[in-house]
Amino acid sequence: MSQFPSDSILVLADVTPLGELSSSVAAVIGEASTIGTPVLVVVAQPGLAERLSEAAGAAGAPHVLLYEQESTALTTPVLEALVDATERVNPGAVLISHSIEGKDVAGRFAARTGNALAVDVVAVGRDDEGVFAHHSVYGGSYEVDSAVTFGTPVITQRQGASERRAAPTRAEVHMLDVPVSTGPQTTIEAFEPAEATSSRPELRGASKVVAGGRGLGSAENFRLVEQLADALGAAVGASRAAVDAGYIGASHQVGQTGVSVSPQLYVAMGISGAIQHRAGMQTAKTIVAINKDADAPIFEVADFGVVGDVFTIVPQLISALEARDK
Ligand SMILES: Cc1cc2nc3c(=O)[nH]c(=O)nc-3n(C[C@H](O)[C@H](O)[C@H](O)COP(=O)(O)OP(=O)(O)OC[C@H]3O[C@@H](n4cnc5c(N)ncnc54)[C@H](O)[C@@H]3O)c2cc1C
Repeated sequence: MSQFPSDSILVLADVTPLGELSSSVAAVIGEASTIGTPVLVVVAQPGLAERLSEAAGAAGAPHVLLYEQESTALTTPVLEALVDATERVNPGAVLISHSIEGKDVAGRFAARTGNALAVDVVAVGRDDEGVFAHHSVYGGSYEVDSAVTFGTPVITQRQGASERRAAPTRAEVHMLDVPVSTGPQTTIEAFEPAEATSSRPELRGASKVVAGGRGLGSAENFRLVEQLADALGAAVGASRAAVDAGYIGASHQVGQTGVSVSPQLYVAMGISGAIQHRAGMQTAKTIVAINKDADAPIFEVADFGVVGDVFTIVPQLISALEARDK
């Protein structure tokens, strides 16, 4: 008999290169806890067991399956550990963050185990027939549920989409002993952390985002977006038009061909709200739009809209925020 609860939901932890649980893990555990008992799979360098189990417990995982490995192979050890954990736990679903690494592992895991994959979900639920995934699709125009008709659903969860959190607990750690893969794999030969050029939050998974569009007019004027972001402690986003015009780097692009965000607050400055942009931000909890065209489509999805010139409104907003913080 398995030593894990019969309603176990396997959650794969994203681990940072410094060996810490990524900030997205708590939300995936939180979502898993609404449909069963989260069992967290963690793959990390040896020697981190105590620290990681404390972090897992704080995030609400009562069970941790830890695989300590020194391999420099990309993805493969994580995939092997997840396959091994699935055999041991026999979970009702496997939840993985829709991060760069998570997407990679999820696709390979679903193919390897012959299970169906539901990607970029914003929530999960359970009904009489089992686990289902809730999606926001077509640029947020429709909300749909999907469920698998066989096997164990493999689900990737959009970062920032869930506010659910499990109550902190004490995690019981079980060690995984996974046979080392001899198959072809990509390995990391050298690793050097890039120096942080900004103290702003990462766009992916940020709780507040301030984004600017073509309406800013130039890279110099785009500073206004950054200033408002700093006043709010927010990450900086951009429309594709702003990226194409060279106002800011492509990693800041929000939308269909950029990053999908689901923050608590999304401020759109000088962005018209094309469907491809909305696809990446429409699930934000509160959307504030500032645009001088009252008919701009962004106002259709905005909770608060200001019709006016960003260069008049935003400096006043920044002054008000700074005055409030004094
Ligand atoms: C296949 C495909 C994929 C795409 N992927 C993406 C994507 O991932 N992300 C994305 O964003 N776009 C994407 N696009 C492009 C998208 O269709 C739009 O062209 C783009 O989002 C427009 O950017 P924008 O809103 O900044 O510019 P515009 O549409 O030109 O809008 C600028 C807005 O600024 C307002 N404005 C101008 N001056 C001011 C001012 N001083 N104060 C206030 N408001 C002002 C204007 O009224 C206007 O509404 C994609 C397109 C295609 C075809």
